[in-house]
Amino acid sequence: MPGRFLTLDDVLYEYVLDNSLREHPAQAALREATRRHRYAGMQIAPEQGQFMAMLVKLLDARRTIEIGVFTGYSALAVALALPDDGRLLACDVSDEFTRIGRPFWEQAGVAHKIDLQLAPALDTLDARLTTGEAGHYDFAFIDADKSGYDAYYERCLRLVRPGGLIAVDNTLWGGDVARSARDADTAALQAFNRKLHGDERVDVSLLPFSDGLTLARKR
Ligand code: CA
Repeated sequence: MPGRFLTLDDVLYEYVLDNSLREHPAQAALREATRRHRYAGMQIAPEQGQFMAMLVKLLDARRTIEIGVFTGYSALAVALALPDDGRLLACDVSDEFTRIGRPFWEQAGVAHKIDLQLAPALDTLDARLTTGEAGHYDFAFIDADKSGYDAYYERCLRLVRPGGLIAVDNTLWGGDVARSARDADTAALQAFNRKLHGDERVDVSLLPFSDGLTLARKR
């Protein structure tokens, strides 16, 4: 159906990168360091990192959250877009994976902006709520275990200010969300997408970008 979407074949995708991608050398180096990782597919695409950096700048964000760091590419993209006194609360449970990214955060000169918390994200977020940080954040990115999305979203919705933005990755899940769920992750994403569609606490947009990126702006 014309006008609905453009098939992003390899040639066109290369064109997009060649004609719009701007990466810090540390970002390119981190992508290269992650390329042969057994979970390399978990890394966001570079144009998505650039888009998230744009969102951070549009929001004039200073306090940000990331749930699911993997090897740190998205954290690096966000940290590069933050002002020098901006901070990213980066939540992950894996020392093994995040350890890969940390030298590149240093290389880019943004390591001081990234507060990496190696613990279950809900513990970290609940602790921040307990210490009075509700409404303190401008931007949050959720990209972790799919069965946890709803709980992460509810915490983020309390932690971001009105007008703040929550970006949620993989909400199209390779297209599986539009088919009958064969597994728990797909079912969780289907329920999450349904919930956000009707959630009057936010303005919502599901972008058919990368693997699906939902933007929820807190009203
Ligand atoms: Ca993802």
